[in-house]
Amino acid sequence: MQYHAFIIKYAEIGLKGKNRYLFEDALVKQLKRVLAKCDGDFFISKVAGRVYIEAEDFDFDETVEAIQTVFGVTGICPAVTIKRDNENHLPDLDGTARAVIDFIAGVYPDKNKTFKVKCRRVDKSYPLDSMEMAAALGGKILDAYPEMKVDVHDPEILINVEIREKLNIFSEVIPGPGGMPIGTAGKAMLLLSGGIDSPVAGYMIAKRGVDIEAVYFNAPPYTSEKAKQKVVDLAKVISKYTGSVKLHVINFTDIQMYIYETCPHDELTIIMRRYMMRIADILANKSGCMGLVTGESIGQVASQTMPSLMCTGEVVQDMPVYRPLIAFDKQDIVDISLKIDAYETSILPYEDCCTIFVAKHPVTKPRADVIRRHEELLAEKIDELVQTAIDTDEIIEL
Ligand code: ATP
Ligand code: MG
Repeated sequence: MQYHAFIIKYAEIGLKGKNRYLFEDALVKQLKRVLAKCDGDFFISKVAGRVYIEAEDFDFDETVEAIQTVFGVTGICPAVTIKRDNENHLPDLDGTARAVIDFIAGVYPDKNKTFKVKCRRVDKSYPLDSMEMAAALGGKILDAYPEMKVDVHDPEILINVEIREKLNIFSEVIPGPGGMPIGTAGKAMLLLSGGIDSPVAGYMIAKRGVDIEAVYFNAPPYTSEKAKQKVVDLAKVISKYTGSVKLHVINFTDIQMYIYETCPHDELTIIMRRYMMRIADILANKSGCMGLVTGESIGQVASQTMPSLMCTGEVVQDMPVYRPLIAFDKQDIVDISLKIDAYETSILPYEDCCTIFVAKHPVTKPRADVIRRHEELLAEKIDELVQTAIDTDEIIEL
């Protein structure tokens, strides 16, 4: 079938009253961004609460896949659209019926199907109302394809015919990712490790329209260049949805060593996490982020028990810490990781800064007052080390 248009469906963003235009403009901007990377010529227009993409010389699968990375899109309807003629007329009933019959010929080689015609008539100057129009078109389809049968309750094919600015014919609705368009919410700082969880957490927050900046705590030479590359690749996965990601690579080695030499070993992970949070908080503040994002989930590991989460969370005072996976089971997280094509990268077996310095028996019920007291042992050098880590921040734009 030679489709030459897509009708883009969106849900929540239709509900935002006066802000609606801001949301639609963000959606159009994101569509332009992803289509610029596809083969073909695309023309995007916003007409009366609808977003249309007209397409020429394009690859269908590539285009649909690209549109599926745009948050805010709930459905992608490949369509045939017919423009008004020079006198501003759309085809009459016979012309419309011919177009619908051609559409069915192109899309459904097997005519042994049940169908229903659904009409929407926004242009009220049309002589027939929606019901009459649907009935008339149904009759003409049956004349053309006697093998087809009408089923108004549960049809295999629902043929939508819309009389709007143009005549639109479509039947298939390919699901979009849902969510809100990037650029409608603000920015957050994702603590991105090489694991399975944090890229999924970043994806989920981005899906609410939030732009993502990321920070990775690196511990060379204990962690390798490959481990870092893995995080860069995961940031790239997120950038597919957000357009770009600024990744901060913080050299955490000296801080980690100092904590290792100075503090009780069963508290290492918690204290390290607290310093990661503090540094992420500073970076986030500097770049106008409105929250931190982690891949934590209650009870997943010792450092993610509720007492541990209380301890790591308390050091961030300027902004909320968002933990979108907090109540997710691992398998549910893995499912999303697979869906967004992060999983294969996440499971590559490179060492992580936390696993290298991890204690045999980490505390599972840390007490914040005890942790604070032990952190005081770091007073001599820690501020300077934190400052150096921030000053030597390596920024990678993806
Ligand atoms: P992930 O799969 O995201 O690595 P995890 O199950 O391995 O998570 P932890 O290692 O306990 O969990 O880390 C909890 C969270 O802390 C991570 O989801 C991530 O947000 C953050 N984090 C951990 N290590 C790092 C790191 N090296 N750099 C940046 N953030 C990190
Ligand atoms: Mg991890």
